[in-house]
Amino acid sequence: MCGIVGSVGLHNPHDYILDGLKLLNYRGYDSAGLAYFEHGIKIYKDKGSVEHLETLVPHNFSSLVAIGHTRWATHGVANKTNSHPHLSYHQKITIVHNGVIENYQEIKNFLLKEKYDFYSETDTEVIANLLDYFYTKNNDMLMSIKESISLINGSYAICLFNDDHPDVLYVMKRSSPLLIGHGDGFNLVSSDASAMIKYTNKFIDLNDKEYGIVTKDNIQIFNEKGEAVNKEYISRDIADIAIDLKGYPHYMVKEIEEIPDVCAKLLSTYYKDGDYHFDKELIDALSKANHIIFIACGTSYHASLVGGRLFESFANISTSEYIASEWANHPRITGEWPFVIMLSQSGETADLISCLKIIEEKKIPSLVITNTEGSTLDRKCQYSLLLHAGKEVSVASTKAYVAQVSLLALIVGAVSKQKYIYEDLLKATSYINNVQNNIEKIRNIASNIKKSESLYFLGRGYDYLLSLEASLKLKEVSYIHSEAFPGGEIKHGPIALIDKNTPVIVFITDEENAVHMRNNIQEVVARGAKVYVISTKSLAKKDDDIVLDDFPYYLTSVVSSTFAFYLAYYTSLLKGYNVDRPRNLAKSVTVE
Ligand code: GLU
Repeated sequence: MCGIVGSVGLHNPHDYILDGLKLLNYRGYDSAGLAYFEHGIKIYKDKGSVEHLETLVPHNFSSLVAIGHTRWATHGVANKTNSHPHLSYHQKITIVHNGVIENYQEIKNFLLKEKYDFYSETDTEVIANLLDYFYTKNNDMLMSIKESISLINGSYAICLFNDDHPDVLYVMKRSSPLLIGHGDGFNLVSSDASAMIKYTNKFIDLNDKEYGIVTKDNIQIFNEKGEAVNKEYISRDIADIAIDLKGYPHYMVKEIEEIPDVCAKLLSTYYKDGDYHFDKELIDALSKANHIIFIACGTSYHASLVGGRLFESFANISTSEYIASEWANHPRITGEWPFVIMLSQSGETADLISCLKIIEEKKIPSLVITNTEGSTLDRKCQYSLLLHAGKEVSVASTKAYVAQVSLLALIVGAVSKQKYIYEDLLKATSYINNVQNNIEKIRNIASNIKKSESLYFLGRGYDYLLSLEASLKLKEVSYIHSEAFPGGEIKHGPIALIDKNTPVIVFITDEENAVHMRNNIQEVVARGAKVYVISTKSLAKKDDDIVLDDFPYYLTSVVSSTFAFYLAYYTSLLKGYNVDRPRNLAKSVTVE
């Protein structure tokens, strides 16, 4: 969600701040702003895009410090006043913040009594004023930050400067990512390494409740007790974080077309010299478990449903799959030897981080499957496996979903010691191109459904699990109301929704379920539905709309998902929407 950039020591920070904010565009936001110091504090901000902000800002500014922000509103509507940066009441402290301050009202009440006025509705302005309150008393910025950290509950990545020292940036972090990039004669700050990679590949990753002071030549970090902390520099694989359209019109289509390469990389990473290639301790721990608890959100939750079924079918280990925000409030732990698998593409999903705290308390072994090296979950979970899917910029996830399902299949192969799962995956990924040969037909379906108000996906077994993701994807980028149902369930209620010409998209890729699915088709056709069928050669009927080569039925989420992604993509394009940045959504959901 939202983004932070900051620089100290850059000759003209204009380009880094604005280009950096544009690179963070993909995370989803509603307002943008920046501040710097040139004969006093200058703040430019407004509701709307970074491109709009750019029209408000001078082309050059020579300021030692500069900070920028894209806001995804949590407290207060999206408008100019609520946009960041925020200036403290005594006009001393200029601050940008990602996250949510949970006890902001309590702190605000205290500050109101201390005669502080507030101009915005945000929780962020409360921190600016709390820092200001302490600074007015002690004239020591680091001390003021330390005092504030001891009072604030919630999540924050914060970058700020003080009017008294306009050659210094201060940073503070808890449960929301923040990195410092080290350069020669300058230092940068950002919530995402991608914004800084053009300038440096030497980063410091802040831990929770750490804070620091950053000058053009120096970085000093402290823990919550105020003790200096020695931080190591880390670097990042540029291919994994680079943001580049490579000639494609949109990130979503680029990322769909990268799926075969992503799968190839995954297979060669986790299968080497004729066998699965995982940490032996992890595979032993999984094999010992008698119940696996999957915790995830959104698309990752759909991947976990596939993972759960694979574990039960091939490794004979029972599983439960939970939505993270639900599990956090009512943690359900089954089995004598439970093992938790969490799926988070960003590794920063706040709902999962709060689950991890419970998992740690209960001492349950945990594995995170993530696409982001160095992320909070990557660092904190007992075991971590990376998807190596490369940066996914489109808010609607495509390649990362396929990578999640494929990696889960490989893990199941390793736990059950069945090499044919690898062979099947290899085969399945080679059939993804087969879907691409049907682009014209998919575009036609998109054109037929684009005006629909509601639409349904049907499938059974693994096809049903894929339908859930297909439906979410279409909803996310085309704003068409869509639901997925198991084929057998439709007659228990949802069939009431079928009307003349209601589009129903049906997957039939599993022999065991094919006959029943054909019956379900008859049921909806009899009520006037317009049915589109995606099947495989050996199960196809004459009028099926898309017929794919046969592939192992349990890998439909690896192969047929590409159909679903293209369908969502083209429907969104035909409706004229911003397919990479659907309304109200953010890429990495760092608030609970
Ligand atoms: N909670 C802050 C606000 O609503 C920051 C939101 C964000 O992370 O962008 O302004």
